Amino acid sequence: MLTVLRQIVEEVNRAPNLEQALRIIVRRVKQAMEVDLCSIYLTDYPSRQHVLMATEGLNPDSVGQVRLGFDEGLVGLVGQRNEPVNIDDAPSHPRYRFCPGSGEEQYHGFLGVPIIHHRKLLGILVVQRRLPKRFEEADLSFMVTIAAQLAGGIAHAEASGGIGGLRRDPGLSAVPENRPLQGLAGAPGVGMGTVVVVYPTADLGAIPDRRATDPDLELRAFRCAVEAVKQDIRRLSSRLGERLPAEEMALFDAYLMLLDSDSLNDRVVERIREGNWVQAALRDTIEEHVRIFREMDDPYLSERSDDIRDLGLRILAYLQENPPARPDYPQRVVLVANEITATMLAEVPAERLVGIVSARGSRSSHIAILCRAMGIPAVMGANNLPVNRIDGLEIIADGYTGRVYLSPSPEVRAEYTRLLQEETELLSNLSHLRELPAETADGFRIPLYINTGLIADIEPSQCSGAEGIGLYRTEFPFMAAEQFPGEEQQLQIYRKVLKSFAPQPVILRTLDVGGDKSLPYFPIEEDNPFLGWRGIRITLDHPEIFLVQLRAMLRANHGLGNLRLLLPMISSVSEVEEAMRLIDRACEELSEECGERVARPPAGVMVEVPAAVYQAEALAARVDFLSIGSNDLTQYLLAVDRNNARVAELFDSLHPAVLRALEQVVVSGHRHHREVSVCGEMAGDPAAAVLLLGMGIDSLSMTVSGLPRIKWVIRSFTRQEATRLLREVLEMEDVQQIRQHMATALERAGLGGLIRAGKY
Ligand code: PEP
Ligand code: MG
Repeated sequence: MLTVLRQIVEEVNRAPNLEQALRIIVRRVKQAMEVDLCSIYLTDYPSRQHVLMATEGLNPDSVGQVRLGFDEGLVGLVGQRNEPVNIDDAPSHPRYRFCPGSGEEQYHGFLGVPIIHHRKLLGILVVQRRLPKRFEEADLSFMVTIAAQLAGGIAHAEASGGIGGLRRDPGLSAVPENRPLQGLAGAPGVGMGTVVVVYPTADLGAIPDRRATDPDLELRAFRCAVEAVKQDIRRLSSRLGERLPAEEMALFDAYLMLLDSDSLNDRVVERIREGNWVQAALRDTIEEHVRIFREMDDPYLSERSDDIRDLGLRILAYLQENPPARPDYPQRVVLVANEITATMLAEVPAERLVGIVSARGSRSSHIAILCRAMGIPAVMGANNLPVNRIDGLEIIADGYTGRVYLSPSPEVRAEYTRLLQEETELLSNLSHLRELPAETADGFRIPLYINTGLIADIEPSQCSGAEGIGLYRTEFPFMAAEQFPGEEQQLQIYRKVLKSFAPQPVILRTLDVGGDKSLPYFPIEEDNPFLGWRGIRITLDHPEIFLVQLRAMLRANHGLGNLRLLLPMISSVSEVEEAMRLIDRACEELSEECGERVARPPAGVMVEVPAAVYQAEALAARVDFLSIGSNDLTQYLLAVDRNNARVAELFDSLHPAVLRALEQVVVSGHRHHREVSVCGEMAGDPAAAVLLLGMGIDSLSMTVSGLPRIKWVIRSFTRQEATRLLREVLEMEDVQQIRQHMATALERAGLGGLIRAGKY
């Protein structure tokens, strides 16, 4: 049965449109179950009816004609119950409703199962037989399994049909044009413009093997193509450089490095020398690299496989003398693709790019991070988007809610136009805040710091009005290297970072690899990496790595004195004690070496696992400050993988359990007179910032693009108001209720524009 099931699902997924998909379902299910009838009804919410959309067994003319209200008939009963209904004799059931002309009177045994996608009823799948007999358990299991498997495909086809096919379908009432498709909020803002669909033009998979007649010629062609791509990347990089923080530009340096790398070039050359022609040599080499990266546990690195493929396709395009076309971009471009890469984004003239919509990816995808850094609204994971049918359509991408409106109705368009105008006004107001302190209306100052880590050059962060670096993730320089960087190499990087903000504080976090971040030269194979060898656990097991890093940090601090150390993934006091011993040892060694006392800089721990929450006092007693890593803390408290798009909706740091944990940490830290800060994404969330203010948090650290908004939040509330709001939400039991309460509070304070489109 498994094979049949798989075959049906594959066939349905290949169907060109919804109508065909439904026909395949009824035909194949009827056959597989050896029944006399199979019908499929789709649920039409505007008319509150289930509409017969395909049948094998009923009169074909009744398709589109048989319509059952939500509380009508056995089909309605399945929908109401949201569970299978299995009846031996349908006509004698009190809920039976006869539909004249359909021919259903000849059938007795009835089995209907709901088709549900993401908790939403899409329709009902029905099988019937002439015999008055209940269906067997195995039949029921088959139907439930197939309905569950088909639901995604139907949802996708329905969404695609909503653009063309389905709307013309007489069976369903018109899909209203203001019904949005739902993706995930990727980067705040609203992008309103024309869809430009981007797609790879060359196809590596289609390249055949072929003997190279003149290997030298092939080699020359390869080198020219690589050179041409390098020039393109430089062009794209300088174009983006105007809009993108320097740290993010490192990505383009990485592309150039990859194009220069021996591993890429030598393998292609080798393959050409072995006799294959250049295109196939490139194909094999790129595929090899893509495979290696894709298999990496670290989502950041495994996503890099898309960049490698992108580079491979660019080289191929030049080899095929088909350099990338530069379309005539409309004035306001919303870039749409199955998967948007950084170079696709960079191809669009910056002043025309108003938004992106990617069918794949989530908020933590690199492209979403880039968009947040560049201030481009982004919707990710819009997997119902009929990408290849919407080029040139008008679109609205709401990066606050993840909603996408295709060919929006005049009312929706007018509403968003108004919101956009307000938003532009809001952003220009925010820029005036740069010189002003982050101080509440009743005089409490909350220093705002930035999170960074990609490269040492952090000039844009200095211009942001930040008062220091609250989290420098040292693993990024480690990721960009080909082996563990040495003390001197690290020293250069840390020195640059410390200097850029001196005398303001810079918090360097010790190496935090494992979990979702692994190093290409230090692979960690684990079934459950987030609960495995991570952060401090690794560095304590490898003092030789830890000590080199500590020494480099301490040396970088020489003459500056603004270094603070931060220890990640602490889950017990013994880890802190051991780490502190190693820090002291590094200080002693350096003191001996340079003949001058090297004092231990202030050191803190990250509170990011539940154990640290409950031991916050014991930890605070051993360190100088606590920094709450709300990304991991939320993940571990709620048992929600921070990188899993499927459960992304459950990940919310305003969850009552998280708020209670945070409050406990602040109280514990303050009991020992230690400063407590938050350096997770939460610090950049306006609603969360108010509550943290209410808790008495001492500082907040966030991505640079979020800083002006949070400054505005701080300046718009008093500590007293924030404390009152915190008390109110701590009485609440549900995260949605808390979100709603905070949304109302922000609206009342005139800050609604920070959490949704518009200003007021
Ligand atoms: C966190 O977990 O909140 C945090 C800031 O650390 P990272 O995101 O680097 O794991
Ligand atoms: Mg963390």
